[in-house]
Amino acid sequence: MIETWKRTELDRLKKAYGLEPSKSLGQNFLTDGNIANRIADASGAGPEDDVVEIGPGLGALTVPLAGRAGRVMAVEIDKKLLPALGAAVAGAGNVEIVNEDFLKLPAETFPERFILVGNLPYYITTPIVARAIELSPVRCVFMMQREVAERLLSDPGKKTYGAITILVQHHCEAELVMNVSREVFAPRPGVDSSVVCLTPKRGRSVQPETEALMFRLVRAGFDMRRKTLRNSLARAGYPEATLLAALAEAGIDPIRRAETLSPKDFYLLAQCLSNKVQ
Ligand code: SAM
Repeated sequence: MIETWKRTELDRLKKAYGLEPSKSLGQNFLTDGNIANRIADASGAGPEDDVVEIGPGLGALTVPLAGRAGRVMAVEIDKKLLPALGAAVAGAGNVEIVNEDFLKLPAETFPERFILVGNLPYYITTPIVARAIELSPVRCVFMMQREVAERLLSDPGKKTYGAITILVQHHCEAELVMNVSREVFAPRPGVDSSVVCLTPKRGRSVQPETEALMFRLVRAGFDMRRKTLRNSLARAGYPEATLLAALAEAGIDPIRRAETLSPKDFYLLAQCLSNKVQ
């Protein structure tokens, strides 16, 4: 088992296994064991927990996760990495390597209750976050490009606030775990990273139809984010009088823009609107 993950260790593996990191698969390997340990700590995984890791690569994060969790299901798309990954986790005994595209795995593939962790392949960060919300694990701890992390953690009125912020914050508590410099990856990516923890909200009484309407309004609002709600939401296909009545009932001024509404405002507006059109 690898104790501390170092750049020299990565070079050795590259030589031993004839590896060339694939840019198109987002292969920027973590070379700092300290950061890997901090991510594993942030996952909160203990002996009772199943962890699913997205993109284990050469095992930098898999090894500390395996040291804490009951079981780790490590989903890696790239067959070429498997011999080195297998060797890295050989001493652990609780790691199952699954050679698949994480985004294509059906929900039944996953344990009933699990923690989702990954140093994400940055070319598919948003689809992974959206899929994670559907799967609703106990929590997600994701390393991602800082710019996307800032969008997930943003607040109404900020430039970084958008439809993805609302999607994430409607479904999850979102918090920053730490910022990570690009210097700790090999090869070094062109951007810095952040680790974010997303904890799905449970036990709320939200109506799926109201949520569906809410996200239709979010899409309409952000498709034309510089326009007032009165104008942008007209594209969602409701008569203006109904829309204005719903905005009034929700206490939202129709001259505001979508980017000033919180996820709660959007949900309330969807509730008021659905009452009017029933
Ligand atoms: N966890 C390793 C680390 O921290 O060094 C590797 C992280 S690297 C940023 C992303 C990993 O995700 C790569 O190993 C890549 O092959 C893998 N990957 C890319 N697309 C994937 C997908 N759709 N499903 C599963 N793994 C994927």
